[in-house]
Amino acid sequence: MTILKMRKADVIVIGGGITGMMTAWNLADAGRDVVLLESGELGAQASGANAGSLHLQIQYPEFAKFGEDWARDYGPCLGFLKDSLALWQDLSRRTGEDLGVKMGGGIVVAQTGAEMALIAAKARIEAKHGVETQVLDRAALFEIAPYLSDAAIGGGYCAMEGKANTLRVTPAIQACIERAGVHILRDCAATALEAVHGGYCVTTPQGQFQAPKVVNAAGASAGKIAAMLGLQIDIDGFPLQVTATEPVAPLIPHLIYSAAGKLSLKQAPNGGCIIGGGWPAARRGDGSLATDPVSLTGNMAMAAGVVPRVGQMRALRSWTAWVNGTPDWRPILGELPGATGFYLALFPWVGFSGAPMTAKVTAELVLDQRDTASLKGVSVLAD
Ligand SMILES: Cc1cc2nc3c(=O)[nH]c(=O)nc-3n(C[C@H](O)[C@H](O)[C@H](O)COP(=O)(O)OP(=O)(O)OC[C@H]3O[C@@H](n4cnc5c(N)ncnc54)[C@H](O)[C@@H]3O)c2cc1C
Repeated sequence: MTILKMRKADVIVIGGGITGMMTAWNLADAGRDVVLLESGELGAQASGANAGSLHLQIQYPEFAKFGEDWARDYGPCLGFLKDSLALWQDLSRRTGEDLGVKMGGGIVVAQTGAEMALIAAKARIEAKHGVETQVLDRAALFEIAPYLSDAAIGGGYCAMEGKANTLRVTPAIQACIERAGVHILRDCAATALEAVHGGYCVTTPQGQFQAPKVVNAAGASAGKIAAMLGLQIDIDGFPLQVTATEPVAPLIPHLIYSAAGKLSLKQAPNGGCIIGGGWPAARRGDGSLATDPVSLTGNMAMAAGVVPRVGQMRALRSWTAWVNGTPDWRPILGELPGATGFYLALFPWVGFSGAPMTAKVTAELVLDQRDTASLKGVSVLAD
């Protein structure tokens, strides 16, 4: 019989993406002994592979698909995201690294009157939750974004949105949590989780870990962690892809979306354009991901339809990753009913944008500085 060694901690965080790392960092700064378990490398999943958009406004494709009632239910999440973007603006200072955080504003570009009407309806709901989206006519749009296609007739401009340099963010946070004294275990997947007297025991290939409190920050795999306790949460993984172009001279200071379909487009500090917006990646027979050529051409055509100059840029590379998604886009945050001391830190779809606030709130919950009910309207667990 193998005897696994046991280590005790104040808190065990499962998942070393941006959310788990920042949660661990906040807890270590508050003096807690934190063990962070990561099945692979830190920041190597969605948190290190995303498109770097700092989103705030309600995503247009979902608004068009789910409608105003859905948007009203989602509305309280806007305040949460707004607070998160404020934390993003302090993250370069906090990490001591230039993370490329720039809040140049985001524009949903419309090419039809029907799209303009939806943008205006969306802006009215956003305004109720403290997010200002200006509805721009053609002249106002081209004044701030002369690089757009002539087909644009207007758009929705949210000045509070922006971008960050994904490649820099998780390595910088990793250095901070190492300095903060978080006990990090890489290649250390949680394979079993059970409630024990006084908390939880997590089994890994590197031994067992026990703590009164556990944070599930496993992103797209969070449902599997909850299932280890016999609990079900409505989160899943969805394969996405993003493409980067060759560098070009500065052209696009904004985060660009299209009302015609799925698109996020921005220019990175090196001049390359990062093009995504939720296009699906393909799955190989063994379950691993591959770039889907149909998504690649569709995504590039969508980008070139909005910013014609993109049509002359060569795509350098595309990559894939699993995003954590919930059906109604709302996050799952807080202590899971029926599992005292087991916390979920799951901000779906735009979880890079939401991570600093998700981590702050999760640490406060774990430290008993707030309760899950304070997230009413935001987290499905609080309603
Ligand atoms: C291609 C793509 C583009 C995106 N673009 C954007 C964007 O532009 N803006 C934005 O805001 N969001 C974007 N997102 C979403 C965003 O990246 C994610 O929502 C966010 O990174 C989730 O962070 P996380 O830390 O919760 O999860 P993850 O980064 O997925 O981290 C979870 C970690 O848990 C680990 N793990 C899993 N199972 C176990 C286990 N059993 N034991 C231990 N560890 C485990 C994983 O290895 C992983 O490192 C994008 C996502 C993708 C995939």
